[in-house]
Amino acid sequence: MNQICERIQAMHGRIQTAAERFGRRPEDIRLLAVSKTQPAEAVAAALACGQQAFGENYVSELTDKARALADRGVTWHFIGPIQGNKTRAIAETAQWVHSVDRERIARRLNDQRPESLPPLQVCIQVNISGEATKSGVDEAALPALAETVAGLPRLRLRGLMAIPAPSDDFDTQRRAFARLREAREDLIRRGHTLDTLSMGMSDDLEAAIAEGATLVRVGTAIFGSRSG
Ligand SMILES: *Cc1c(COP(=O)(O)O)cnc(C)c1O
Repeated sequence: MNQICERIQAMHGRIQTAAERFGRRPEDIRLLAVSKTQPAEAVAAALACGQQAFGENYVSELTDKARALADRGVTWHFIGPIQGNKTRAIAETAQWVHSVDRERIARRLNDQRPESLPPLQVCIQVNISGEATKSGVDEAALPALAETVAGLPRLRLRGLMAIPAPSDDFDTQRRAFARLREAREDLIRRGHTLDTLSMGMSDDLEAAIAEGATLVRVGTAIFGSRSG
């Protein structure tokens, strides 16, 4: 068995252990394999081990790998910062986008989503305090953006995503993820249907699962380090 397969199996074990520890059902937590900077061959190796959902941060990598692996049953999730001039390629290639953080981008993705494809599945990226990147809508502006996304016919609002500042402290990690959980609960109170909390990466997925993650985004723990 190749190393990628072993790591994917180990990751399912880690997810299951965390789910049991925090009273979650393992089947409620999906694994997104983050394949940024990895070649299409690495994605193909993971596909052969039953991994179907892959996350990409850069539009050129998304389109190159989607072309190389066309008709292989991959579900592509775009998880990187979105520039206005790159929305068309995302709308035409990805099934999911986790990083919608402003109205203009949401409208462009909606307008550019081909009629021949199902609606684009959308998570709104939220800038919970201390977020490692500057991306993400402020919590105060989230309800208005959610309202906009929910009203666009070619987008389907599925949930929220965040990238907290890295921390080695479990309780600090948990507090950050709790904010995203609370933001989702607030939107549900406002009448939205959100089934997805995209949070947790290689180094903090246990804390994310403790706070209700339904999808963890894992790169290095599956594909190895991206350095070089
Ligand atoms: C790179 C990346 C990941 C994966 O991070 P790892 O630490 O390699 O698991 C997850 N989410 C986003 C948005 C990323 O950019």
